[in-house]
Amino acid sequence: MNSYKEAAREIRTRKHGVGFTGAGISTESGIPDFRSSDGIWSRYDIQEYGYLKNFIQNPEKVWNFIHALENDFSFVSPNAGHYSFYELEKAGFLKCVITQNIDGLHQRAGNSRVYELHGSMNELHCLKCAKKFPRNSSSLKLKNSVPICECGSILKPSIVFFGEPLPAEAFDMAVKESLSAGYMIIAGTSAAVYPAAQIPYIAKKNGVFIIEINAERTPLTSSISDIFFEGKIGIVLPELVKEVLKS
Ligand code: NAD
Ligand code: ZN
Repeated sequence: MNSYKEAAREIRTRKHGVGFTGAGISTESGIPDFRSSDGIWSRYDIQEYGYLKNFIQNPEKVWNFIHALENDFSFVSPNAGHYSFYELEKAGFLKCVITQNIDGLHQRAGNSRVYELHGSMNELHCLKCAKKFPRNSSSLKLKNSVPICECGSILKPSIVFFGEPLPAEAFDMAVKESLSAGYMIIAGTSAAVYPAAQIPYIAKKNGVFIIEINAERTPLTSSISDIFFEGKIGIVLPELVKEVLKS
């Protein structure tokens, strides 16, 4: 039996699956992952912009980076990989997508339950009083292009910087859904960023069938993946979904 047929059979019989995705699912939409040598990460060094301490020391500089990120994200659309997860949800085979991405493309593809482990660009919160604001709120005051809270403190996008904890609710729900899933499709993550990368291992311990799709092998491949597809998500996932939907 070929891998597509085997994976499709597991998905059909186990039915209630979850997706677990990383930056690799969005590269075919034009958002580079950290490994790509071009794009936003070569213009903005993550060591200089990615840490909470960078934001606290120089919010204006980091907000310029956020604006550049928002600008890049506004020109991209979901790709065949994102739409394949939506097809699986529509057909009743997928409960939710757990993502490490902050680009919002799973929601734009139509998935209704997306747990964003590294937060969202669509929300801001105050570092002092914790009040939350929608990103597109028209009432935000700006000081040197930095949004300011009603209490006068600076607002930070609710994405997780290095040195910050993950949003507890999203992480707890991701663990809960993974524990009760029949299968997990892991797509486009190097599984190197913790604690997010714990989730596939937690799932596997609970008997979840692991299907991994990645351009290259990862630490998951030889340790927990039951089936590994080496290739582009935008090619592999639609092919797999086609096989699942063949009755
Ligand atoms: P990563 O960059 O560490 O790994 C991406 C993986 O996807 C690699 O294994 C790569 O080989 C693979 N890949 C890339 N393109 C692929 C394709 N078309 N088909 C199949 N595989 C492909 O990404 P990560 O594990 O998500 O960790 C990076 C961190 O950076 C995450 O925490 C994420 O939040 C953040 N990030 C997010 C975005 C985004 O929101 N789109 C982009 C870059 C980084
Ligand atoms: Zn405040």
